[in-house]
Amino acid sequence: MSVTSEEAARAALRERLGAGARYDSPNAPARELGWARRGTAYFARKLNELTDAELYEPSLLPGWTRAHLVAHVGYNARALTRLCEWARTGVETPMYASPEQRNAEIERGATLPARALHNLFAHAEVHLSVEWRDLTDEQWDRQVRTAQGRLVPARETAWMRTREVWVHAVDLDNGGSFHDFPPDLLDELVRDVLRAWERRGEGVDLTLAPAGREPIVLGEGGPTVLGALPDLVRWLTGRGARRLTGSAGELPQIPRWF
Ligand code: ZN
Repeated sequence: MSVTSEEAARAALRERLGAGARYDSPNAPARELGWARRGTAYFARKLNELTDAELYEPSLLPGWTRAHLVAHVGYNARALTRLCEWARTGVETPMYASPEQRNAEIERGATLPARALHNLFAHAEVHLSVEWRDLTDEQWDRQVRTAQGRLVPARETAWMRTREVWVHAVDLDNGGSFHDFPPDLLDELVRDVLRAWERRGEGVDLTLAPAGREPIVLGEGGPTVLGALPDLVRWLTGRGARRLTGSAGELPQIPRWF
């Protein structure tokens, strides 16, 4: 899209969003939407702290520059927008046509100039907000399919976006930290990782011992890993171990999150 048509599209969305107060429907997933909106602001803040040149430097994700991440987070909002459109219209629109299409889009996006990347993130985020705001009580419960092929209610898009914006803000590698996350979000991320392992039938024997909290026993218990909850979540989500202690010396191997 050219800059002019991009700006025109954004103006049309702003009009749809409206100047007056319009609210999410009562059946909307309020807690997850709150996290997603705060996380979007958090990601935007970290993004805006980067110079144009820094955008093309490595991120924390192997093989990806920060530009890859920004493109991915923008295209993820568009993909989730498609799921909301599916719920709203009943016309099946998948997140991505194929894994190859998704990856090619990110690769191409990573070569965009800085201004276009900022525009992509901002425009895609506003569009998703508008879709969420317009879903009715009944539409929030309609089934859509994730990129992994799972059937989920449309309300799941708010949690899917929450994970993306918060964790990838840390992946930008310019000072974002799990220690900035809301405590209730950290708890839900732990549950999300455990759900992912369970879905894939990955048996894990492990005891998580967050400082000042009840331990979480998985499977047979096995070795204990101690540390602050944000550091445990960092490790569980595959972002490396910092300030953690394992009862067996080395930290145990754990399955991937995604
Ligand atoms: Zn992602």
